[in-house]
Amino acid sequence: MRIDILTLFPQMFSGPLTESILKRAQTNGLLDIRLHDIRDYTTDRHHTADDSPYGGGGGMIMKAEPILAAVEDVLGAVRDGIPVILTTPQGAVFNQRWAKELSRHERLLFLCGRYEGIDERVRDLVVTHEMSIGDYVLTGGELPTLVMVDAIARHIPGVLGEEGAADKDSHATGLLEYPQYTRPPTIRGLSIPAALLSGNHKEIERWRRAESIKRTWLRRPDLLLTADLSEKEKWLLATLALEWLNARQ
Ligand code: SAM
Repeated sequence: MRIDILTLFPQMFSGPLTESILKRAQTNGLLDIRLHDIRDYTTDRHHTADDSPYGGGGGMIMKAEPILAAVEDVLGAVRDGIPVILTTPQGAVFNQRWAKELSRHERLLFLCGRYEGIDERVRDLVVTHEMSIGDYVLTGGELPTLVMVDAIARHIPGVLGEEGAADKDSHATGLLEYPQYTRPPTIRGLSIPAALLSGNHKEIERWRRAESIKRTWLRRPDLLLTADLSEKEKWLLATLALEWLNARQ
């Protein structure tokens, strides 16, 4: 997958993109990430990329022309179907479903806002998706872009290698992941659940699935509204709810 990122601060990407899994994905040719400095597309002597807002008010607004020139240069004439993603706290909230959906594209372009945001006409002319990483406001779109690129990359076949499968993670199954343990078997009096030491794969799977359901019910009951549960698992949920109600009486 090729990902183009338009930003005023390309240096912000160097650490996260040059370590660990994202670095390996690039070395292995699974990810081709290209950073573009929006300032390179300004035309005045001072490389001005922002200006004051029409109508007054505080802060500065990113100018449309350098961004439009950058998008046109990077995408060229044929840009059908390539998502142009604007990072904005006003966008749809990014989640695992979005990560998976965006990972199916061969190319993506991210647009990182700064200051008070960008001239609205960029939205009108080139943006296809507006994405937020949560209901809070950051100083710029660089961190949101990194968050989304990381989450998207995990769904590209081969990126996770031996280290895990994205389809088992929290949210991928509609449930939170079960508790995990590694050696030693006992730490300060806390030991491993017996099922995990049984060596019986079926029993381990059963235990994990039940723990996933329990954990989701306790921490994110909203997810259970859409989770795919068997009849037996729905009974387990009902039992948990009863136990919980009894404990409160
Ligand atoms: N004035 C804007 C508003 O109220 O919608 C917020 C501008 S914010 C200070 C500057 C830039 O940071 C935004 O243009 C956007 O690119 C990025 N940003 C801030 N919070 C974000 C979030 N939660 N998700 C995605 N991008 C965000």
